Amino acid sequence: MAEAAVTPVEQVGVGMTSARTRDRLIDRLRAQGISNELVLAHMRSVPRHLFVDEALASRAYEDTALPIGHGQTISQPFVVAMMTDALFEGPDQGEKPPRVLEIGTGCGYQTAVLAPFARHVYSVERILPLVERAQRTLRKVGVHNVSVRYADGWHGWRSQAPFQRIIVAAASAGVPRDLLDQLDEGGRLVIPVGKHGAQVLACITRTGEQFSRRIIADVSFVPFVPGMAR
Ligand code: SAH
Repeated sequence: MAEAAVTPVEQVGVGMTSARTRDRLIDRLRAQGISNELVLAHMRSVPRHLFVDEALASRAYEDTALPIGHGQTISQPFVVAMMTDALFEGPDQGEKPPRVLEIGTGCGYQTAVLAPFARHVYSVERILPLVERAQRTLRKVGVHNVSVRYADGWHGWRSQAPFQRIIVAAASAGVPRDLLDQLDEGGRLVIPVGKHGAQVLACITRTGEQFSRRIIADVSFVPFVPGMAR
């Protein structure tokens, strides 16, 4: 009697969230230049439609940012792919970094994409209802090697540092000092920097006390807001 339990809304969801729809998104990412097969495979397996409101589920496999409430958005799949690739590309791809820090959990979608690349993902979000929703969704989709914390990500997550990789999903004028400090030797930080309308995605690598910076692309992110939301 499984069919009888499915509501019409869910049926529409099935059509628009089917394997074929997801494949089309992956083809599109590939056509836009994402060539990291591991990133593409993980993104194909994460059910993005479960991270957005049911009313938006039919649009979940479009390559676009969507609202998640509280004035925030789930990142565009192409941007998630580009950031994940920048974070993990390279010859050591087979070895999972033990600790990855994510700032700006949002709905938890990027967290789920990061999870298979790390032994553990530590994710920080400043809006409490988003923290709670991300925790629920991540559990529901079977992602368990993540910890989501309600805190100001401006200061990273000191007690869990150092991190081999840090990813920031919100843009600031400069790079917070605490994030650089919490980066492990040889570690990599991917962060959007700059004002609205003029942001770039930077990839920063630590060698001792030196930080080298490479610009990856022009991007558009919600602001990295210091302090916690009330
Ligand atoms: N990757 C997320 C992106 C969400 S948008 C997703 O796909 O859903 C960026 C998120 O960064 C927002 O949820 C916002 O609340 C959060 N954010 C902004 N400033 C922050 C801060 N200082 N500390 C923690 N999170 C912050």
